[in-house]
Amino acid sequence: MLSSHVVMNGALVAKAQATVSVDTPAFRYGAMVFEGIRVYADDAGRLHCFRHLDHLTRLRDSMRVLRFLPVPSLAELDSLLLGSLEQLEVDHDAHVRVMVYVDGSGPMWDSGPLGTVVMATSITSSLPGCREARGWITSWRRIDGAAMPPRVKSAANYQNSRLGVLEARAAGADVALFLDRDGRLTEAHGSCVLVVRHGTVATPTRTSGILESVTRDTLLTLLRDEGVEVEERDIDRIELTNADELILCGSMAEVTALTAVGDVELPGGAGPVAGLLGARYEDVVRARHPRSTDWCTPLAR
Ligand code: PMP
Repeated sequence: MLSSHVVMNGALVAKAQATVSVDTPAFRYGAMVFEGIRVYADDAGRLHCFRHLDHLTRLRDSMRVLRFLPVPSLAELDSLLLGSLEQLEVDHDAHVRVMVYVDGSGPMWDSGPLGTVVMATSITSSLPGCREARGWITSWRRIDGAAMPPRVKSAANYQNSRLGVLEARAAGADVALFLDRDGRLTEAHGSCVLVVRHGTVATPTRTSGILESVTRDTLLTLLRDEGVEVEERDIDRIELTNADELILCGSMAEVTALTAVGDVELPGGAGPVAGLLGARYEDVVRARHPRSTDWCTPLAR
C-alpha cells in the first residue's frame, strides 16, 4: 500500500508534493470537509469498504451545508474513492480519508474551485476485542447546531474537539466527553457514546449535537437485531458516572470501552455489551454477518 502517496485531484502524488496554497479558503478559514472510512479484509483476504456510500452521502451533505460547489454526485465520489484505493494499492486493513476543500484564492464565502485528496493509512483493528480508554467530561461545551453544526464533518469543527481533548489529556485521560449548554451528553471528541445501564443501551438522539455517526447506526441496528433494548434520548451527566458500561463508537474508535470518567472508575474493561458489540461488529465489517451484504463493498483487487 502506498501510504507515502495520496490521490490529489485524481492523480497519484507523493505526500511531500501534495500541497495546498496558503492563500486558499481551505487554509485561511478551514473550508474543508472530510470522511474517515475503513477497509477490512474478510476471512479469505478479500478487501471490503465498510458503508462507504453512507460516508460519501454524509460528505455530500457537509458540502451542501457549507455551500461547496459543484457538489459531486454520489456516483462521482464512489468512483473517486474506489479508483483512489486502486491507485494507492490498498491491499490490507486501512483507514481512508477523503477530503474536499475550497481551493483558489477567493474570499471566505467562495464555493470553489474544489480540490480533493484521498489518502490511506495502514491500521490494525482491535476487533473482536475493545480498546480501553479513560474519559473526561470536558468543561468546554459541544458546538451548538445554531452556530457551527456538529452534523457537518468539517475540519473546522474539530477545533472544539481539540480544546476538549487537550483538557482531557492534561487531566490524564484519553477521551473528552462533551456536554451541551444544558448539561446533556452529546458525543466524545471523535466518536459517539453508548450508555449501558441495567441491560438497556441509551445514546443521545441525532439532534443532540452529534455527528450522524455511521458506526452508531451500525451498532444500534446490530443491538436491535439481537433483541437488546435501545433508547435514543437525552442523557444526563449523572448517567455517565452511574453507568454499567460506557462504549465509544466510530470508524476509527470501532468499539472502545471507557474504564473511567474523571475520578469515577467504571466496573473496568469491556463489559458484556461491549463484548457482544466487538464480536458482532467484527463479523459485520469482515463480511461474515447477514447485514454485511448491504454494508460491505468488495474491492476490485
Ligand atoms: N463524532 C465525531 C466528532 C467524530 O469525529 C466521529 C468520527 N467520524 C464520530 C462521531 C463517529 O462517526 P462515524 O461512526 O461515522 O465514523
